[in-house]
This record gives sequence, C-alpha cells and structure tokens, in this order.
Amino acid sequence: MADNADGFQDLRWPTYAPGRGITLDRAVHDDGDTGGSFRLRDSNGKIYLDAIAGIGCAVLGHAHPLWIEAIHNQLGKLSSVANSFWTVPQQQLAGRLGSLFPIDDCRPFFANSGTEATEAAIKLALKATGRDVIVAFERAFHGRTLASIALTANPAYRDPYVTCMGEPPSGRFATMQVLRLPYNDEDALRAAFEAHGPRIAGVFLEPIQGEGGVWPATKSFLLEARALCSRHGALLGIDEIQSGCGRTGHWSAWETIVGDEAKPDILWLAKALGGSFPIGACLTTETLAAHMGPGTHGTTFGGNPVACAAALATLRIIEEEGLLECAAAQLPTLELIAKSDPNREVVDIRGAGAMIGVQVGTLEGGRAKAIGKAMMDAGLLATTPGGHTVRLLLPYAAGESELREAWGAIKTACEAVPLA
Ligand code: PLP
Repeated sequence: MADNADGFQDLRWPTYAPGRGITLDRAVHDDGDTGGSFRLRDSNGKIYLDAIAGIGCAVLGHAHPLWIEAIHNQLGKLSSVANSFWTVPQQQLAGRLGSLFPIDDCRPFFANSGTEATEAAIKLALKATGRDVIVAFERAFHGRTLASIALTANPAYRDPYVTCMGEPPSGRFATMQVLRLPYNDEDALRAAFEAHGPRIAGVFLEPIQGEGGVWPATKSFLLEARALCSRHGALLGIDEIQSGCGRTGHWSAWETIVGDEAKPDILWLAKALGGSFPIGACLTTETLAAHMGPGTHGTTFGGNPVACAAALATLRIIEEEGLLECAAAQLPTLELIAKSDPNREVVDIRGAGAMIGVQVGTLEGGRAKAIGKAMMDAGLLATTPGGHTVRLLLPYAAGESELREAWGAIKTACEAVPLA
C-alpha cells in the first residue's frame, strides 16, 4: 500500500497512478476574488494554480459563493426523491438543457457521472436502431464502465474486459460490437458505412478528444459523419462530457466547430454541468427518447434535486458572469503569450477556448509526462494526456495573468528537466 507525504496509507484500490504524492486540502481565494477560486492548497501549505480543476469539472473555480448558496438552499428543502416522482429542479434543468444545446425537442436522461451518460447513449442507439455496431475512434475516451470502455481506445483501459471487431478475443466478452476508426478520417468512415452500413447503430465521438491529447475534430469530418448517419439510418452521438457546457466558448463544442448547420441525434454531458457537483445528462430528441419506455433504463441518484440545483446554478452563473466569452478568450490569449515568450520545446498549441493542449516534444517522446512533477514544483497542477501534451482545463474566468503563470510554469518545468 502506498504511503503519501502526510504519512497516510492510501486505502483505495490501487487503480490510480500514485505519482502525485500530495494531499489537496482546500481552495484558496486571491485577494479581492468574488467568484470561484483558481487555486488549491496542499496539506503542507503549498499553493497551486489548478489547471486540472477536477479534470474539467470546477469551471466556476472552486467554492463559488453563489453555487454554494444554491446547493445549501436545495439541501435544506429537498435532497432525495425517487425518480418515479417529478421535482422542480429536475424539470427546470431539463427545460434549460433543451434551450441551450443543439437537440430538437430535447429530452434528457439524468445520470451521476460521465460514463453513465455514455451508457445511456449506447443503450439508446442499440435500442432505437435494433442494430449492434457502434463506430468509435482512435484515441477516444468515453468512460470506464463496460460498454463505455469498449468505445474507449487505450488498450491499457480496455484490456482485459472488451475487444473491438477484428481484434483477437483472448477470452474477453463484449456487450456490443465496436468498430474503431482513425479520427478525422472521412474516407475511413465512408468505407465503414459501405462495409457495415445496415449494422451500424451509431457513430460516437468527442468533438474535441480530451484524454487522447486535445485533438479537435474538423468541421468537414463532423458534417460528413452527420450526413452518413442520416443516409444509413444510424445515430450521431456526440460526447461533450469534457468539451461541453461552455468550455469552448459555446455551450457545446459541436456549436463551436459546426455552428448551426447541423445537429447530432444524441449529445451527452457531465463534468462542467454541475460546476463540480456530480451529475451527467444524455440528451436526445423526443422521438428517439420514445424508444426508452418504462423499465428500459434507470438510476436511483441520477437527477438528484441537489445535483440539479447545482447544475442550474452553474449554468446561470456562466451566463450572468459572461463566462462563455471568458472561456473563448483563453486559447487566443495563450497563443499571444507563447509568441511573446517562446518555449522552444512546445511544438503545438491546440484546442478551443478553455480546453487547451500544449504539446511538448514529439508524440512518441513523452516529454509532458517527464515534466509533470516539475510543473507541480513550479506551482501548476495540470494533466499530461498521451504523455506528450500538457492539458490546461482552467476555470472559465481565468484570464491573461493565470495563463501567463501556467505558461511560465511549463517553461520552468521544461528547463528543470533535461532532455533525454
Ligand atoms: N467521456 C469523456 C470525453 C471524458 O473526458 C470522460 C472523463 O474524463 C468520460 C467520458 C468519463 O466520465 P466520468 O469519469 O465522469 O465517468
């Protein structure tokens, strides 16, 4: 069992990489802050700029007073109701999601997490079409429950549970057939429909791949996926768990990339939706939702009134504080900073709005992983998906000064760790 810096033994399953070695203790507000905080303190008193933010959950920053107030109010009123009853926060949130996201006659299924929202999308696609194949993509991440993990690309997460079409089975079992294709490859998608069209229930993708290293889809790829699904009777499913709820400067990354030219059939959310309170939602049209009759799906906690109140407060604060505009400004601001203060190790900066990947070294080089600890020493918490890219998922209100600080910490970390 691992000992951490505070002498605790980690009593959890050893499923998390032990590398961090610190205990995070509380949010710390800068002087004069009135909203959420960008900083966390560890149990030794060291303060970090938090560009992980619960892996993209704390979009208002930590401990935003209006978000706390909304949760407290709901806790004092009603905290748990069986889903056979209606509640005001749940119905209000359902209406709000319908007005913000590009789904006609929107009907949500409420879940507690991202992977549960993916599961709902999978069950809907299989049931509504009566088909068995879901198309997913290289580098994709859709969650870790068994059906979601089948769509996730990284074999380190998938083995030994599930396999894709054409892969040797080696004693695994699969709950559906997954066909994995290269991302942003329109020819491969057309060929897949030619070969398997009548079996394809859905094409599921992240409009910006997060865990894979922050890779945006092209507009033409998304429009071609839309056209092929419509032509062949398959459903287009968009996983906005990481990219949605304002992260890219619009409510959905779909909107950022495609605009209003087309819409997906299914779109699902989690992370930012509750402003770090656990909640997920899978949205689809009224017509498709009609396939999910009584007993076809359900959850005890999903759409809990406190979680719905947290989500309503999060969406309201994003709007009232102009946070979509703030999020949209982050990537262009960082690009300007990078121009004025170059770091020769950075080979690419990509993403959209407040979902930023800073690729350090080659894709094979794993340089971001190597500088991870040095970034922490320099006061920055950031993940390194793919081992080659530093991912910045700062709260939306973070601006030039926080981005300059993050850029400086990456540079300091690169200088501190010699090139192999
Ligand atoms: N889908 C995407 C795009 C994600 O980024 C994640 C989490 O990182 C998930 C699904 C899984 O969400 P959760 O960890 O809440 O189950």
